[in-house]
Amino acid sequence: MPLPTDEEIAQLTPMMKQYFTLKKQVKEAILFFRMGDFYEIFGDDAEAVAPKLQLVLTSRGKGPNQKIPFCGVPHHSAKTYWMKLLKLGLRVCIVDQTEDASQAKGLVKREITRILTPGCIDDLDGLDQERPNYLMAIYQHPPTKIWHGVVVDVSTGEFRWGEMQGYSEIEMMIGTYRPTELVVRRFFQEEIEHDLRTKGIGHEMTISLLPETILRDENQQYGLVRQVFGLDQGKLESLGVNSGGAAIMSAVLQYLIGLRASVDQFLTIRPLREPRTMDLNDIVIRDLELFETSQLRQRKGSLIAEINRTLTPMGARRLILEMKSPLLDMKEIVDRQNVVSIFLKESHLFSDIRDHLSQCYDLDRLATKAIAGRAAPSELVQMRLSLQAAARLAGNLSPFQKKLSVLSELVPLLQPADQIAKELDQALENEAGPLGARLDVFRSGYDASLDQLRHFSQNGEKQLQEYQQSLREQTGINSLKIKNHKTFGLLIEVTKSNLDKVPDSFIRRQTMVNGERYVTNELLELHEQLSVASERAVMREEELYLELLQRMLRHKADLRNVASALAFIDILQSFAQKARDGNYCRPQSLKCGTLNVVGSRHPVVESFVGHHHFVGNNLTLTPQKKQVLITGPNMAGKSTVMRQVALLAILHQMGSYVPASEAQLPVFDNIFTRVGASDHLAQGKSTFMVEMSESATILRKATDRSLVILDEVGRGTSTTDGLAIASAILEEISKKVNCYTLFATHYHELVSVAKGLSSVMIAKTEVVKKDSGLTFTHKLVEGGAEQSYGIEVAKLAGLPPRVLVRAEEYLKKSENHGQSEGFSSQKTNKQPPLAHWGVEEVFSVDDEQQRQLAAKIAKIPIHRTTPLQALNILNDLKAMVGNGTGTRLFDN
Ligand code: ATP
Repeated sequence: MPLPTDEEIAQLTPMMKQYFTLKKQVKEAILFFRMGDFYEIFGDDAEAVAPKLQLVLTSRGKGPNQKIPFCGVPHHSAKTYWMKLLKLGLRVCIVDQTEDASQAKGLVKREITRILTPGCIDDLDGLDQERPNYLMAIYQHPPTKIWHGVVVDVSTGEFRWGEMQGYSEIEMMIGTYRPTELVVRRFFQEEIEHDLRTKGIGHEMTISLLPETILRDENQQYGLVRQVFGLDQGKLESLGVNSGGAAIMSAVLQYLIGLRASVDQFLTIRPLREPRTMDLNDIVIRDLELFETSQLRQRKGSLIAEINRTLTPMGARRLILEMKSPLLDMKEIVDRQNVVSIFLKESHLFSDIRDHLSQCYDLDRLATKAIAGRAAPSELVQMRLSLQAAARLAGNLSPFQKKLSVLSELVPLLQPADQIAKELDQALENEAGPLGARLDVFRSGYDASLDQLRHFSQNGEKQLQEYQQSLREQTGINSLKIKNHKTFGLLIEVTKSNLDKVPDSFIRRQTMVNGERYVTNELLELHEQLSVASERAVMREEELYLELLQRMLRHKADLRNVASALAFIDILQSFAQKARDGNYCRPQSLKCGTLNVVGSRHPVVESFVGHHHFVGNNLTLTPQKKQVLITGPNMAGKSTVMRQVALLAILHQMGSYVPASEAQLPVFDNIFTRVGASDHLAQGKSTFMVEMSESATILRKATDRSLVILDEVGRGTSTTDGLAIASAILEEISKKVNCYTLFATHYHELVSVAKGLSSVMIAKTEVVKKDSGLTFTHKLVEGGAEQSYGIEVAKLAGLPPRVLVRAEEYLKKSENHGQSEGFSSQKTNKQPPLAHWGVEEVFSVDDEQQRQLAAKIAKIPIHRTTPLQALNILNDLKAMVGNGTGTRLFDN
């Protein structure tokens, strides 16, 4: 149903007029309209959300055309409903009464106080404690055509900006940050939505629009960025922020301001890609199941769930960030390991640290709420408790500052905690209730006027008694009484017989039959004070509370630093705790060169099968032998051993200990994986296509300092093609890329290719074949597998015996006929595999040769060429590529 036109609105009741005028400003959000103790939802909004929120839908208004569907929720539980809608990807607009209903003349004034979107939530109840909540904006700067991205977490004040190399990097960033909301320009919305959805990316993202006006006004852009970050154009430029950067940053800030969100929590601009860390791409994150399992997409079974021993929400979130971006600098890695090792050695220190951390609340998000002026008193109390714990932590760690460079940076960051905690402690009661509900937010002694107001409001009767007594004593009139009169308020009653004792300071108000009634200035004051004391106490409390929040705003940099130091200490203690629980060892970091692991384990599989059942594996790669080809049947443990090496590398570069009895690890510049057969049919890519494009990316991007995991490359096509491709990729890696590589295959025929490559070691996952069947020892041993054991594994998997017998028959037939499409011979290792395609030597031409060849071929006038000329041309072409050395391009 379209919204009513202005003329139609003019016909409505004043309240519905007010409603639709506001609704027209936020068409895309569900509007919650405060009416007394309820938030009401009208019209299409009501029809849309009633079933989602299980609310009863009724209607309002008279007459068929005036009836408007509506539903409502009580104001005290409204937040739960808002959060439900946000989780569904919807936006919520909150309209509140902005004047006291009892003071209002006519219709109560109402305004939009907040628009909540999935990427713009600062309420702790609506957020997952252990995950950041990112909003991402992308923008192509028209003059330069360069893409820019901004990623923010409104709840913690994280703000990042960076340039991006086109769509593929945008997709990668979306995969890395997993924003809940993506903000784009209007004209681009449809295109990006279509593109992302067809690629199966960002299903859970809400797509919103960037404000356009600011994108066209450079002055406004720089003005807003300066206002928030305190950086002028020159300073921004010196930090590498160009005009495209300023445009997108300011547009994001403007977008948030439009939602009535705070931008005060943003302090610094961080890069999208941290230069000192590795940027694990989304494929690696998925393949290694760092944050969720690839099939069920559950956190349980992921690396993060396995190793997380953090005790605070900000620590848990920081762990995600660290796992996404392992360190590149060896010194930083070793510095972190040094702290972990001290924690493990100093058990008292370690238990104190864990103790203090477990008393910390989500300081990062609480501080954001305080800075934004939205924190409730109980949240400031939680902040105080966290800061007190942080101060104790600083005390515990400071003796180790000199020895450990990480601590020498962290302890000073924690130090302001003590002072801020004291400020809060002086102000706040131990348990603060909501403002105004009970007068127990501030401690007595904190503010004299509040104390007095409280005193009056709590002791009103006693005050009057005391004043009455003092007047009796002063005048000598013992029958003098102070009474509360309905119309005149507090009055002093003096009987006729005592009128001569009335002092001049008494002001006569009323004459009665048997006496007179008076007031005094003090009584008027007392009356005023008593009647409004409790109201004033609430107002004074509100004033003081705002002042307190203002003070917290001034501490924003310190608060951010304390929260960030707590998060960092938390992850380091988490590494230590996991090392203790999981029997991990401290890896030795090597600049480059050898990778050596002894008794290494896959952390997740180990905890799944049990520590005693997991078989640790050894592996050594040296600068001379940087690749290992791992053969072995299915289920023998190839994938496990390869992934565990990659996981060890990630843990090592996060600064953690690793699951092994001994480990020497190089600092890799990146990690790449190509594992499993994930279908992306919805994206228009077959399994094989995905496999090949991921392999191509690896060959293009990996360097000789990268770690590459390739599992079953070539599996997605026919055996013949697959084997050929796998051979060529292995050869390219060995001869050109020279990256550290673990290459698993069940094509045992690849062993003969590997034998010809000097940098490739050959290993297999051991299988013991007995009469009773196959046993997988899960040991990685030297040598290549002679068989695939496919049929034996199928038997283990329970394939019907009839099918297994037929499979044996087919296998025999194929062995008798040599290799044929779809069946690999079991005994072909003696034969060089490529000979099968008639190529004796792998033929390679460089780019320049290719260009010359292409030019020559393009010029051949086929319609005028005689057979003899054709042979000569062919000879020339051969000479060009073979350079007369006799390299054979074609088989004779
Ligand atoms: P496929 O080729 O079918 O993928 P694979 O050779 O890669 O098989 P994995 O998937 O690595 O085999 O391992 C199969 C199962 O074997 C694992 O899920 C795990 O339960 C067990 N396993 C693997 N390695 C070990 C080990 N070192 N110790 C104990 N159990 C292991």
